[in-house]
Amino acid sequence: MDSENSSILIIYTGGTIGMFEDPVNGSLKPVDFKNIMNQIPEIKVLGCNIKAISFDPPIDSSDIDTSTWTHIAEIIEQHYSSYDGFVVLHGTDTMAYSASALSFMLENLDKPVIFTGAQLPIGALRTDGKENLITSIVIAAAKEYGKPLIPEVCIYFESKLSRGNRTTKVNAEQFNAFQSANYPYLAKAGVHLVYNREFVRHPGRFRKLVVHKELNNHIAILKLFPGLTPEYMDAVLGYKELKAVILETYGAGNAPTGIWFLRRIKTAVDKGIFILDVTQCSRGSVEMGRYETSRHLLKAGVISGYDITTEAATTKLMVLLAQNLEYEEVKMHLNKSLKGEITLP
Ligand code: ASP
Repeated sequence: MDSENSSILIIYTGGTIGMFEDPVNGSLKPVDFKNIMNQIPEIKVLGCNIKAISFDPPIDSSDIDTSTWTHIAEIIEQHYSSYDGFVVLHGTDTMAYSASALSFMLENLDKPVIFTGAQLPIGALRTDGKENLITSIVIAAAKEYGKPLIPEVCIYFESKLSRGNRTTKVNAEQFNAFQSANYPYLAKAGVHLVYNREFVRHPGRFRKLVVHKELNNHIAILKLFPGLTPEYMDAVLGYKELKAVILETYGAGNAPTGIWFLRRIKTAVDKGIFILDVTQCSRGSVEMGRYETSRHLLKAGVISGYDITTEAATTKLMVLLAQNLEYEEVKMHLNKSLKGEITLP
């Protein structure tokens, strides 16, 4: 395996990794990229050719929008043939959404796109940002027999590399902020960087990169809770432009069986709205029909999300809905693993 002489493009979007404390009010604010590079002179010894493109201004990831994903995708598209891999520096708050979105937007991707960031700014003494950034560059640069080792959109954080569309932020305090509950990690970094090769996706090589730049965000997330009212459901389902709902259900995909609930679901499906059953549990899968409480949903035309994360479901729908596909085609894609985002039974 070798990584020397690889060319890596860093795309700096913002996030805590590049923030500094405002001396006036003490809040963390993003600063420009030069400040980050000055903090890590070690990068020069990696032997890679590293260039960087910075958002101007860099942003906190709570301000990420669908247009930001298009912007990141366009940067990758413009520089695709000139670099061996890409590292996206991003705030942790919405990193799992962005990595999921990019995984669906970049069709035929055969180079690494590694998202990373930090819980503490790179200038802080105990920062986690240095290791995260250095190892992300090493992973993005890693090649074997001239081919990239990880030709996927991933998140590297606190010693673990996970598939982007399998990842969720689970911790706002600890360095160990991300989890891939339903899919094995693709690499773990300790004294050695150990790749879990059999779980890495390898798309057919030499297919041209196709970038889906359009996203349709007329979707809603409806999280079930005991006490949910018909009025609340009507408010969500009554949204005029609505194209799809991620129904966050209990356990193995279960929902109330009351006629008031099922009638509203059925009416939405009959209007052509996609309803995707995604479990609120972080581990395990929707199994429609296992209980009476999900069999009704199946009969009403609700689609199983299997073990998909809400982040992946949201972004998969946004990409599919923007492609002017027939209803049955979208449904077929939702029942398929497009980028390794679901485990089919
Ligand atoms: N609020 C920050 C962001 O997501 C948090 C972080 O980077 O960790 O941009």
